[in-house]
Amino acid sequence: MDQNDGNFDFTKQAADYLRKVSKDDGLCSNIRSSHAHMLVAAALGYNSRKAMLDDPKGPYTKNQWLSHTAKHVENIRATILRMKGACVRPEHAPEIARIIQDGLTPACCECGEHNIDNLPIGYVEQGDDADWVCASCSADDTQYGTCYCCGDHVIYTVEQLDAKGLCSEHHGEFDLDPEEEEDYESYIEYLEIH
Ligand SMILES: [Zn+2]
Ligand SMILES: [Zn+2]
Repeated sequence: MDQNDGNFDFTKQAADYLRKVSKDDGLCSNIRSSHAHMLVAAALGYNSRKAMLDDPKGPYTKNQWLSHTAKHVENIRATILRMKGACVRPEHAPEIARIIQDGLTPACCECGEHNIDNLPIGYVEQGDDADWVCASCSADDTQYGTCYCCGDHVIYTVEQLDAKGLCSEHHGEFDLDPEEEEDYESYIEYLEIH
């Protein structure tokens, strides 16, 4: 399923990611799927996946921007203490929180990496869907750049930037209007004469 089609469940992605990375990192050889889902819900401040899904105020599991709210380390610790047959330990809670935050982040559209520092491409309001890119892929300046006006934290593809390195919103920002151009020309003439 495509992560931009509006139906992609990022909490499920995070649970799968946690199972994989916790194994790779040597935290636990095999976190049960149900436990991984409990831990993701815990990271988002809930006591169970059901409580999370039943919450009318969200979180909206299909929201690309969940990762920054998954900071409930104490709740993860408490959840591990409550689990029967947990294969992770309470002291792993901060590391688990970090893995879940990465896992909730949309994959980089170039390399597939999940990292909380991935950024959406283009000027995107929080809550809007976009393609996302990781820091190392967006460092390729033949493919990506930033707009002089928007700043360094908004990533654009080079196709989205004009020849002066401005986004479509700021295109023409530094062009002179006809009146300014006239003033500018007479100023140049003045300089040439004097
Ligand atoms: Zn990447
Ligand atoms: Zn801009």
